[in-house]
Amino acid sequence: MSVIETRKLTRRFGPKEAVAGLDLTVESGSIFALLGPNGAGKTTTLKTLMNILDPTSGEARVLGVDSPRLGPREFAQIGYVSENQEIPHWMKVGEFLDYCKPFYPTWDGAFASRLLKQFALDPSQKLKSLSRGTKMKAALVSSLAYRPKLLVLDEPFSGLDPLIREEFIQGILELTDQEQWTVLISSHDVDEVEKLADWVGVLNEGRLFLSEPLDRLQGRFKKMAVRLPESMALPDPLPPSWLGTVREGAALQFVESAFEEEATEKGLRKLLPGCQSVSATPLSLREIFVILARDFRLPGKGGKS
Ligand code: ATP
Repeated sequence: MSVIETRKLTRRFGPKEAVAGLDLTVESGSIFALLGPNGAGKTTTLKTLMNILDPTSGEARVLGVDSPRLGPREFAQIGYVSENQEIPHWMKVGEFLDYCKPFYPTWDGAFASRLLKQFALDPSQKLKSLSRGTKMKAALVSSLAYRPKLLVLDEPFSGLDPLIREEFIQGILELTDQEQWTVLISSHDVDEVEKLADWVGVLNEGRLFLSEPLDRLQGRFKKMAVRLPESMALPDPLPPSWLGTVREGAALQFVESAFEEEATEKGLRKLLPGCQSVSATPLSLREIFVILARDFRLPGKGGKS
């Protein structure tokens, strides 16, 4: 069952199409990471899903409801934490949680107390005296304490130190395990995302360039190293699944984006007869993202899948 589904979702700012005919599906129980270069349309997508912005055209359904019709009933089941979240700075942490409580029928006080401990938050501290990272943790507690069905996080790690990032990740992971929540997270912190996500979507120029399970993505992207006779010419054009190809004499390196254990090596030997020592190395999500983002900048690529 899908918790989020958009069809041809478009959001314009004047002539600028920030989101351009987006078809996005987030399945129930998944931790979906939305990645993309600066200006790809991630925040605009999340704000449209959260009914902070209206779609210009197309539709977005969240928990089965059209996003412009989302109201208190649905928001009682959605947690939304964003980088520039407004929180009432004059309140203490505990007062802030008491203030949020009446809005959510499913508020679980014992759970809130456990989260406070887990995140090492002091309820008697004033929000304005907290560091940015600690404020983010307070915002997260206020969004988790009512056990939302859907948690939407926009750049949750930005400005957080490595320890707090780790606590944040561990907190979300433990909780998602227990609660079977759906999480949609937009972030540039790809290393953190890799620890959390089981599904990855890459947005470019307002369109979804790819959307697939993280393990499948990492299975099909491999760094290839091949030795071939120096005199051998490379095919022209190069196979479209080869990204970032570099040739130096007898050494050829590229990222294969459609790797399959035996088929890739067989294909290479057919394409480059006489090539030797073919090796395929796994790539981190960060490396995959960097190679894709570089490819987006090439003329004519523009992120169209
Ligand atoms: P980043 O990773 O840099 O945060 P993003 O992927 O979240 O970027 P968005 O913030 O959604 O991207 O912006 C997408 C595009 O829409 C950008 O070109 C941006 O300049 C434009 N945009 C976003 N908000 C507005 C606005 N309120 N008015 C005009 N243009 C906007």
